[in-house]
Amino acid sequence: MHADLERVIALQRLDSAVADAQRRLAEEPERSKALDARLDAAKQKVADAKARLAENQNVRRNLEKDVAVHQGRLSKFRDQLMSVKTNVEYQAMQKEIGFAQTEVKTIEDKVLERMLEGDELTAAVKRAEAELAAEQKSADADRRALAGDVEALRTSLEKLRAERTDLVRAVDPQVLAIYDLVSRRRHGIAVAEARDGICTICHVRLRPQVFNTIRRNDAIIQCDSCQRILYFVPAAAQTTDSVTHSTS
Ligand SMILES: [Zn+2]
Repeated sequence: MHADLERVIALQRLDSAVADAQRRLAEEPERSKALDARLDAAKQKVADAKARLAENQNVRRNLEKDVAVHQGRLSKFRDQLMSVKTNVEYQAMQKEIGFAQTEVKTIEDKVLERMLEGDELTAAVKRAEAELAAEQKSADADRRALAGDVEALRTSLEKLRAERTDLVRAVDPQVLAIYDLVSRRRHGIAVAEARDGICTICHVRLRPQVFNTIRRNDAIIQCDSCQRILYFVPAAAQTTDSVTHSTS
């Protein structure tokens, strides 16, 4: 194979790997934000559960105050009952006592309901706190993995860039100029495989004579349509030696 053709194929592999690593690095803030959002959602659940419990306790305290007020009235009525003079007064007082007793009973039932509800809400707070603790643990692990990924990507980028610097030095300046120009114009893909008579990236059919020349891999030939530098992979090597990319 033409030495510079081989080098631009290698260069394309490096550049694609660099672009991929850069893209994944650029996703890091988004992944980090998603972790924060997960944690915030779990914290919000705890806060909501605690607010519901506090509201329940508040309502229950007010009901208990009402019970105390009605019981105060009841004992006052009972005291008054001792001093009534007439039967009419006595019956009227009994009626008041009856009302107050019903009222106390009604409110006490409500207190009991709130107590039962309070037990459920306390359990819900505990569940939400346990979920938050688990989420915190998993978020910490994910954050460590993320930091590890970033570190690995940075290391890999450094290595790729060093390799690129060495490789670029060896490429003929004219060929490199073609490569750089096409790469800038074609979203970073300057090299394409020619297969079955077509450019596999822009899918244009190549003239038979041009395709035959490309098959020999002994010259720098550009696609008439997308300008990419074309190369040919012999059938036996096709699965391992291709740098075909789906972007156009
Ligand atoms: Zn093309």
